[in-house]
Amino acid sequence: MRRVRAAVAEAPGAPFTVRDADLEEPRPYEVLVRMEAAGLCHTDLAMRDTWPRELTPMVFGHEGAGRVEAVGAGVTRVAPGDRVCLTFASCGVCEQCAADHPAYCGAARSLNLSGGRGDGTTPLSLDGTPLHAGFFGQSSFATYAVVHERGAVKVPSDLPSAVVAPLGCGGQTGAGTVLNRLRPAPGSSLVVLGAGGVGLSALMAAVAVGCDPVVAVDPVASRRALAVELGARTALAPGRAWWRRCATSPAAARIMSSRPPAVRSRPAGPSPRCVRAVSWSCSAWEVR
Ligand SMILES: [Zn+2]
Ligand SMILES: [Zn+2]
Repeated sequence: MRRVRAAVAEAPGAPFTVRDADLEEPRPYEVLVRMEAAGLCHTDLAMRDTWPRELTPMVFGHEGAGRVEAVGAGVTRVAPGDRVCLTFASCGVCEQCAADHPAYCGAARSLNLSGGRGDGTTPLSLDGTPLHAGFFGQSSFATYAVVHERGAVKVPSDLPSAVVAPLGCGGQTGAGTVLNRLRPAPGSSLVVLGAGGVGLSALMAAVAVGCDPVVAVDPVASRRALAVELGARTALAPGRAWWRRCATSPAAARIMSSRPPAVRSRPAGPSPRCVRAVSWSCSAWEVR
């Protein structure tokens, strides 16, 4: 057992309170990570506000970066001393995991959103009573976390922690949408709606694979400036007349209404087809 500090949500919507807690040593296939940085994703705040009362007190946090301190029996993917990025948990054996789609793991809910491990236990305790954890397999709002080795990805030792942390959710969500789903050919046009962490990650991925033009849309001027700095041909505030035409075009409406179940069930963010629809409807326009 190890003494740690954690930002605890005592009840749904309650402020985060830094508390001393106890953390178990890693079980087989688990690793102990000393946290160096954690991103704050809107999902942390939204879930904190709507989290079931029976699963509180709870530790959130799902964009963790740190260093492996100890490993449980059977761990082969990482070793003590490795710097790691933490990401969501997946079972590794279901049909989706076997098909290399761990984001759609059949056990995703119990492994990420049950307030603990899939077996109902939690590695954290507070004054001798269970402290719910395992948020997206992590609960990285703490000085240490015990996570399954599948959720720990080794990263270069010289990569700054503040850069590593957001890769666990926002970075891979945005870049993955472009690289794994849209798979645009070089020269494709792409419009990114929202230039926050997810949107800018999508933008950088699109620029990296040769999309042109890449256009960002965001109401915040500083974000638009950053989008251009990161390679967008231009960045626009929403509400411009041509943009309204784009979003309401027949092509966009047709593709949006034909979304397949697999896309409709995505947990958050615009669906790839939605993004593709908008990019298609813009493709006839020259952006200068
Ligand atoms: Zn997130
Ligand atoms: Zn699975």
